[in-house]
Parts: sequence; C-alpha cells; structure tokens
Amino acid sequence: MIQRKNGLHEGVQRKVHVRKGDTVLVLAGKSAGKRGKVIQVYPATQRVIVEGVNVAKRHSRPTRSLPQGGIVEKEAPIAGSNVMLVCGKCNQPTRVSKKLVEQKYYRACKKCGELIDKQ
Ligand SMILES: [Zn+2]
Repeated sequence: MIQRKNGLHEGVQRKVHVRKGDTVLVLAGKSAGKRGKVIQVYPATQRVIVEGVNVAKRHSRPTRSLPQGGIVEKEAPIAGSNVMLVCGKCNQPTRVSKKLVEQKYYRACKKCGELIDKQ
C-alpha cells in the first residue's frame, strides 16, 4: 500500500465531525450507502474506521495472538469527510448543530433537534 503524507500542518488538529460509537452513513467509495458504527477516529489524518466498511483481507503469518495465521479481515480507515452522521431518533443522515443544555454543549440533529450525545 502506498503511504501518502497528509497535507495538514503540523500541530493543527482538526476534530472529525463524528465520534467513536456514532452510527454513520458512508457517502463515497466501495461501501457507499452502507451504514455502520464508528469504531475508531484518527483526528490527525481526518480518518475514521467504520464497522464492516472498507474491510481488507490481510494475509498474516502465525503470531502468538493468532496461532493459525492465514487471512484476517480488518477494517481500514476511510476519510472522515466521506461519512455522514446518522441520527438515532429520526434515522436520517444529518448534520449537527450545537445545543446548550445545562451549561454544556451537546450535538443535536439538524433535522429533528434530538440530542445526539447522551450522558
Ligand atoms: Zn434526527
């Protein structure tokens, strides 16, 4: 696989708009239209790993944790800009707005207004 340097300035870390545990809709690539749960976020590269999306087969040698070796299926990161957050309430892909509740900011669905972050 070709490793490309990301074009971001060093020290600048932009947040990805989704978080671990969010359900997202994939907008581009092989898995476009698929929904899945975010299992990892990489703010430095603006990438996310989505459950069941961009699964790559890896041929691995036997290791201590995997005595059999063989083919392992593993999710590879995709660009954060290629996913859209899915609201748990209205079940639609949406953008988020900030909502101030009890002096704390929560993310809220722009379509139905439901808070996305539950305490
Ligand atoms: Zn909603």
